[in-house]
Amino acid sequence: MSQPLWVGVDVGGTKVLAGVVDADGRVRRTARRATPGRRVDVRRVEDAIAQAVAEVAAGEPLAGVGLAAAGFVDADRARVRFAPHLPWRGEDVRARMTDRLGVEVKLENDANAAAWAEHRFGAGRGVDDLLMITMGTGIGGGIVSDGRLTRGRNGMAGEFGHMMVVPDGQPCDCGGRGCWEQYASGGALVRAAQHRFGQQPSLLEDLCHGDPALISGPMVTAAAEEGDLLAREAFAEVGRWLGVGLANVVAALDPACVVVGGGVSAAGNRLLDPARTALEHSLVAAGHRELPPVVAAALGPEAGLIGAVDLARP
Ligand SMILES: [Zn+2]
Repeated sequence: MSQPLWVGVDVGGTKVLAGVVDADGRVRRTARRATPGRRVDVRRVEDAIAQAVAEVAAGEPLAGVGLAAAGFVDADRARVRFAPHLPWRGEDVRARMTDRLGVEVKLENDANAAAWAEHRFGAGRGVDDLLMITMGTGIGGGIVSDGRLTRGRNGMAGEFGHMMVVPDGQPCDCGGRGCWEQYASGGALVRAAQHRFGQQPSLLEDLCHGDPALISGPMVTAAAEEGDLLAREAFAEVGRWLGVGLANVVAALDPACVVVGGGVSAAGNRLLDPARTALEHSLVAAGHRELPPVVAAALGPEAGLIGAVDLARP
């Protein structure tokens, strides 16, 4: 008789990723479904989760499920109050999915779950004061302080992406202007490349077939890998803004380590070197303190489901 399985599920804006996770944080196998969208009945998202869990469990019994959701999870970790890319609006997701899957489900915000995974098993292993920044379409954040997640009164701590870094700056989806994620994210990287497009020769001309509106983050990454100057300047600009925002967060929290994850972080030091330089230039008392190392995340896109399982285990 095999041990019952612990399954983690990361519910994001584009995909639902489920995985069987060992006690040491290793992912044994995964299954995925497309996220049905944000204007659909909530049951369709729950169907996708249930299907991914069933596929990955492959008929073996479940011990429990950890659910990482890309949205605002309340302080009791029962409901998703709001999710920009998912249909949940105050639903009791924990109870609904526990009922649906017939096994106890624990809920966590996806950025918190990823931060927890990097603290337990990844780039910040053994570090009790850790800050994680996830750079995707926007910026997500998680705080581990004294070896515990900091969730805040409403469960909304760590929403660093909407700190204002430029007064009256770029408009943001949140309704504000000049938010950090408008300058340091996958979207910002694309805008930085589009802004330079046509002013200098670039491999991007071929990659986007001459139409800058078609430029994507992976295109800029690929061009930078090939030594393209325009793409490298775009990374340097976004990296600088990453460091400027980090100086604010590090001034507030004084972490021992900053872990940077998400799709954009695949560029590694091309992004992180300018961030480290900008952090050192912008941080208060930089010459009189130990600067936190700024390191790339280690667990990749599975961090959320790994963290969700570890938080769900008794
Ligand atoms: Zn914003």
